[in-house]
Amino acid sequence: MKLYDMLIVGGGPAGFTAALYAARAGLSVLVLERLSPGGQMALTERIDNYPGFPEGIDGWTLAEKMRAQAEGFGAETLLAEVLALDLRAEPKTAETSEGTFFGKTVVYAAGAEPRRLDLPMEQALVGRGVSYCASCDGAFYKGKTVAVVGGGDSAAAEVLHLLPVAKKVILIHRRDTLRAGKIYHQALLQAENLEMMWNSTVTELLYDDRLTGLRLRNTLTGEEREIFCDGVFISVGRKPATALVRGQLALDKSGYIPAGETTGTEIPGVYAAGDVRGKPLRQVVTAVADGALAVQAALDYLSGIKKSDSAPG
Ligand SMILES: Cc1cc2nc3c(=O)[nH]c(=O)nc-3n(C[C@H](O)[C@H](O)[C@H](O)COP(=O)(O)OP(=O)(O)OC[C@H]3O[C@@H](n4cnc5c(N)ncnc54)[C@H](O)[C@@H]3O)c2cc1C
Repeated sequence: MKLYDMLIVGGGPAGFTAALYAARAGLSVLVLERLSPGGQMALTERIDNYPGFPEGIDGWTLAEKMRAQAEGFGAETLLAEVLALDLRAEPKTAETSEGTFFGKTVVYAAGAEPRRLDLPMEQALVGRGVSYCASCDGAFYKGKTVAVVGGGDSAAAEVLHLLPVAKKVILIHRRDTLRAGKIYHQALLQAENLEMMWNSTVTELLYDDRLTGLRLRNTLTGEEREIFCDGVFISVGRKPATALVRGQLALDKSGYIPAGETTGTEIPGVYAAGDVRGKPLRQVVTAVADGALAVQAALDYLSGIKKSDSAPG
């Protein structure tokens, strides 16, 4: 049995920053990532608000750089899905698709995943007209008609991604104004192939062997109508990937882990970093900060110094 000083669940910016700091501190560290490095960041075509890249950088490249930097100092990465965790065991145990791994500490950095509409067939139609990521799947809809559901920054960014590709984009929003920041409004207003459907919710996905359209309900009048589209991009928010720790760590009412700035949880040696943690801003820059703080706390724990979560500095 190989025992690591630190197991990291999730290879997003929080996970790879923890790996970098841990490896540089001389800890043996294994990052367990089920897909490819980068997490949500890797879905982002251009990141303009991560310092140090004045021209912006695509999320995939930034993820590769973070992974390479951590591995350069000796961190290991394994492409494996964590299926179960025992955080109170000594050592802490991760059952994965590639076997069982043991750690003296665990940094839980599993990030967030898209919120679903929870409509019948939604899951079954993923890849057949239903998507949660325009930068991943938008290219499949060249010259086609697509709908985007949502009204926040992410939905606006999805629309902007699709406008140059699709023949027509229909933005479906349950209110009569967008929540998206002002920076998006001008670009959306100028688009000639964008149709807005205000005060509307999706009540049904229409399909034969793939998505063919949507049934919408007007939230003011209750009137229903069907629209044709080749694809729908659902962008109605994200939810924390905390199912694996439910019952072991406290979760707030939205499912986030209520860890403080040190990222420490109620289980000694277990840290919550990045988008899984309750915090006011979920961005790359706050995720990487969490990764560094988690290692700082883990080093204290490993050396037998246990600081309180509210301790200054
Ligand atoms: C469309 C979009 C655009 C964005 N644009 C920006 C932006 O411009 N600037 C910015 O700063 N932020 C942006 N963000 C937010 C930013 O990407 C996130 O805040 C950041 O990626 C969070 O990092 P994380 O490491 O906490 O989690 P994530 O990036 O979500 O990484 C978590 C990782 O854990 C893995 N994982 C989950 N469960 C398991 C499991 N059971 N086993 C193994 N691995 C698992 C996932 O596959 C994933 O790779 C954007 C997000 C989205 C969705």
